[in-house]
Amino acid sequence: MITAVYPGSFDPVTNGHLDIIRRAASLFDRVIVAVAYNSAKEPLFTVPERLEMLTAVLDDLPNVLVDAYRGLTVRYAQEQGARALIRGLRAVSDFEYEFTMSLTNKKLAPEIETVFLMTEAQYSFISSGSVKEVARYQGCLDDMVPPLVARLLQDKFRANSKG
Ligand code: ADP
Repeated sequence: MITAVYPGSFDPVTNGHLDIIRRAASLFDRVIVAVAYNSAKEPLFTVPERLEMLTAVLDDLPNVLVDAYRGLTVRYAQEQGARALIRGLRAVSDFEYEFTMSLTNKKLAPEIETVFLMTEAQYSFISSGSVKEVARYQGCLDDMVPPLVARLLQDKFRANSKG
């Protein structure tokens, strides 16, 4: 059984992430979508909130699991017995960061391959950051995130503006 780990912040999960997850699920026996506790980023959603969203929107994919991890991604992948890390590429601008990270990960864990899936054209402009910006100013989130995520984003910004 070949397991792949798809690590990321998923703050929040977007249709771009979901497309990568569905495609990875058709290539690997098991895909673990792994939410990183990342102290360097100030998140909008807590890790438990992100896990809950991912679990809800992925419930039709039986070979996809959702989990959270701390520390080195490759160490987590090794603990899960994974053979591959999945990453998505949207544009040339993603490449340099992803290239450096994949070489670092290869040095740390030579047995784990990073597999890059190219975004579908209709998702290439979507990022968690841009989705949050649109939600902050009550823009339309159709086709960018699943309806559940759109609702939770709207609730979050409504709560934040009251607080
Ligand atoms: P990170 O904090 O690790 O960058 P993200 O949640 O922003 O986490 O992204 C996780 C992975 O998904 C990254 O490889 C990123 O390039 C990829 N990704 C994000 N948005 C898209 C998209 N619209 N299409 C394809 N890949 C994407």
